[in-house]
Amino acid sequence: MYSGSGDAIASWFMVPADQNTGHCNGPLDAALEDLLDLARQAALHSYAPYSGFRVGAALRLTNGETVTGTNVENVSYGLTICAERAALVRAVSEFGPEIRVEAVAIANLNDAASPPCGACRQVLAEFILPQAPVVFPAADGVRVMPFSAVMPLAFEMKLK
Ligand code: ZN
Repeated sequence: MYSGSGDAIASWFMVPADQNTGHCNGPLDAALEDLLDLARQAALHSYAPYSGFRVGAALRLTNGETVTGTNVENVSYGLTICAERAALVRAVSEFGPEIRVEAVAIANLNDAASPPCGACRQVLAEFILPQAPVVFPAADGVRVMPFSAVMPLAFEMKLK
């Protein structure tokens, strides 16, 4: 996981949530609401003929750019790519390997809970700031949690 000097969340991200549960205590910060809107728009492009589960993700990068992705299913099922990983691969492809993610928003068009799956959490861990807010629909409404709470024990390779 990235742990360099730029760990502070940009000041324009106000996370109006209980730090333990992620429950929102009021309206989302406008910047996070905008990011969520972009995630919803990306979900419109979803290719989900098998599950019908249409997901979008939007990543805000520390370079000021925003990148979106959607889920792309495959007839073999196992080759399906989630919206979060689609967005991350796009971000690296467009802006290079030095990118850092400072906020993530996830939306689906199914009015269902969709926190990032385990695979996406591990992949995001490679490029995300630990304190980056992750906004996602939970069973009881939208939640905002710092990435370090969403993925507390990411795999790291430390060779002796
Ligand atoms: Zn995933």
